[in-house]
Amino acid sequence: MFVVEKQDFSGFEMAGIVTMRIMGNSVPNGKNLTVQIDIDETITALPEFFSAITKGLRQAGHRVIVVSSRVDEGDCRKKSLEELREYGIEFQALHLCPKPEHLDVLRIPDDLHPAHKIYIGKLFVAEDEKVDVLIDDCGITSELFGKYLPHVRILKVMPPSRIQREPRAVDKPD
Ligand SMILES: [Mg+2]
Repeated sequence: MFVVEKQDFSGFEMAGIVTMRIMGNSVPNGKNLTVQIDIDETITALPEFFSAITKGLRQAGHRVIVVSSRVDEGDCRKKSLEELREYGIEFQALHLCPKPEHLDVLRIPDDLHPAHKIYIGKLFVAEDEKVDVLIDDCGITSELFGKYLPHVRILKVMPPSRIQREPRAVDKPD
């Protein structure tokens, strides 16, 4: 587990904007990955970065899907597509989430906390799309993936307010 530092992305002003923490098992080398990327506080945190990342992933033969917990109703899909186009994001599919009452109850884990229902739609998409990598800022989403889809590698985007500015007073590395 490590924090991706600014110098890993030359040309991008990472520090103070967004930092990604990578969690989970490694993905086999040479595999064509399916990468699931969140919108709010992830792509929106640094759109130019994710524009370059998604273009690079697609050029390298990987599959990029954008999955948001924005509710799929009204013109949300249309507006989200326009927004992603403005950001220059390249992706093969956009999935928004149904309202919690429209989720497939047969797929909801028995031990899921009721308050976490609004996050589980992203896991259903990941399962259906055979996702290898999740990029998301949401702590609960990351924890749910860790519990129910442990094979998915997680890059958790940390907002500036969550980045620790002082080294901890322990010498145990992450
Ligand atoms: Mg988010």
